[in-house]
Amino acid sequence: QLPANVQLVTIGSVAFDTLSTPFGRRKKVIGGAATHASVAASFFAPSLGLVGVVGDDFPDTYRTLLKRKRVDLEGLTHAPGKTFHWTGRYDGDMSVATTLSTDLGVFATFNPSVPAAWRKAPFLFLANIEPSIQERVLKQMAKPRFTLLDTMNLWIATRRQALLKTIKQVDAVVLNDMEIRQLTGENALIKAARACLKMRPRWVFLKRGEHGATLIGKAEYFHLHAYPTDKVVDPTGAGDSFAGGLMGWLAKDG
Ligand code: AMP
Repeated sequence: QLPANVQLVTIGSVAFDTLSTPFGRRKKVIGGAATHASVAASFFAPSLGLVGVVGDDFPDTYRTLLKRKRVDLEGLTHAPGKTFHWTGRYDGDMSVATTLSTDLGVFATFNPSVPAAWRKAPFLFLANIEPSIQERVLKQMAKPRFTLLDTMNLWIATRRQALLKTIKQVDAVVLNDMEIRQLTGENALIKAARACLKMRPRWVFLKRGEHGATLIGKAEYFHLHAYPTDKVVDPTGAGDSFAGGLMGWLAKDG
């Protein structure tokens, strides 16, 4: 039985991933930014809602998996067509994902609707997806206490104006070093973070892979090293899980 109040609403891709790493290849495994983020958040926050869309090829077993993590799927639309499908490859130290194809499927025509009971949720995570979809979700919420936005190189390059408009409405962004350089045109990370803060967010969470993560505010700077992981076989969803864990922790007391 799910608790009545959803503390954290997450919108983002729910996907099939086809992945190659130096350790092997997997076809159409469950993926998506909102999936990874919600599972990570479920370790902390007692009640979560996921807004997204899947096609009629999305198996019930994946729905069950999410429900078992106490992720409420009332906001997960089932549409005729194909589920979002990302194909990617990692080489060498696997610090960079190379996108081989992005098939938006049912996301191409998705018009999100946040269930009425979730609109007063205090925490909102705009996980990676096309930025105008993120904005449409943001607009349906009744003033969340804290909103975090994630994005990626594809949207920075192809939906820049929509992305800048959405960034203007959030409290914080979470980006890796390449994304923040691409977004701001600044090479030095601290300069890039300052440029981001000028866009409106109060906080920038910089993901720096094996070097950890840095939180930057107008007058704040905090760095945390990464947990030393000896065996890495597939980094997919690491950034989403980091952000989901962060939001789950913030949302855990409602
Ligand atoms: P990351 O945390 O950066 O490793 O994110 C990996 C996840 O991002 C995968 O599970 C993909 O399904 C998802 N993804 C890849 N491309 C996109 C995109 N253009 N929009 C939204 N999600 C994406």
